[in-house]
Amino acid sequence: MAERIIEYHFLPDLIGNLRAFSRQETRCLDCGESYRRVPLTGDCRECGGRVNLTVHEGSVNKYIDTAIRVAEEFGARDYTKQRLRILERSIESVFENDHNKQSGIADFM
Ligand SMILES: [Zn+2]
Repeated sequence: MAERIIEYHFLPDLIGNLRAFSRQETRCLDCGESYRRVPLTGDCRECGGRVNLTVHEGSVNKYIDTAIRVAEEFGARDYTKQRLRILERSIESVFENDHNKQSGIADFM
């Protein structure tokens, strides 16, 4: 029973929410410049203003980690687990925190 609720309600909801998040555009509160990815510093590259982070990386990562753990614990189908993995990767790509981007940190100094 619990497995069913998780697999058919909890996980699809979660996947839907995370997908919506990974597609969201981020906007500078001051000049309105939009970004596909959250700037590393959290500041607008155009005007230095604050970029609107509606969802923080930490909370999103915790969310996806929980989902993956729950899927493992309750023996969700491989299909569901695979979707979560794909989603995890697409979320990572939303944030400029991968190693390639970090080498560019000098650009901000
Ligand atoms: Zn700006």
